[in-house]
Amino acid sequence: MTDLPSFRSRAKGILTSPACNNIRFKLDNVQIRSFMFGYIGDAIARNRVHIKAEGFNGYDHESDTIFLVSPDVRPHELVHEATHAVIDATNRGLVISKGPGEAAAYLAETVYSIVTQGEANSLDVPHLTPPVASLARRLIEYNKDPRRTFTCPASDVTLIKAILGSSKLAGNMARMDTMNGITEPR
Ligand SMILES: [Zn+2]
Repeated sequence: MTDLPSFRSRAKGILTSPACNNIRFKLDNVQIRSFMFGYIGDAIARNRVHIKAEGFNGYDHESDTIFLVSPDVRPHELVHEATHAVIDATNRGLVISKGPGEAAAYLAETVYSIVTQGEANSLDVPHLTPPVASLARRLIEYNKDPRRTFTCPASDVTLIKAILGSSKLAGNMARMDTMNGITEPR
């Protein structure tokens, strides 16, 4: 049985940490700006975005639910799924294919890993770690000025989406979803 209040407060602590405020970028039609991860952290604490530990990682934009392997999931895995929630919550009406959404989520988790532990974690898609880590390091350097937001170069994004598209793990990269925001609690 998951202790939901402590699970939610742990997630809020990770997403409102200074490390997450480094995660600011534009990638295709996705924009992630300052404080968006903190916003999702608050939404989790208030159960507007739900979290469940059910043995796998994922995000369902229809029910606004982050699924995690377990309550003690590694923080960068939470950051990955929270990126999908950020896109859903802050880009209502955006039609997005799975490719840019996954590219953004892998970039966000890698920025978090490098900022908090000095190196990228090995990503679960073959050949993806080196190009994402390279992009993340340039992003971190550029965003050292808090007024700036890094724009991912098209050449990097094209390469990353191609790697994702050729992997079985990443699923159907052409699938389109319309972001419908997160709903108020009842
Ligand atoms: Zn994902």
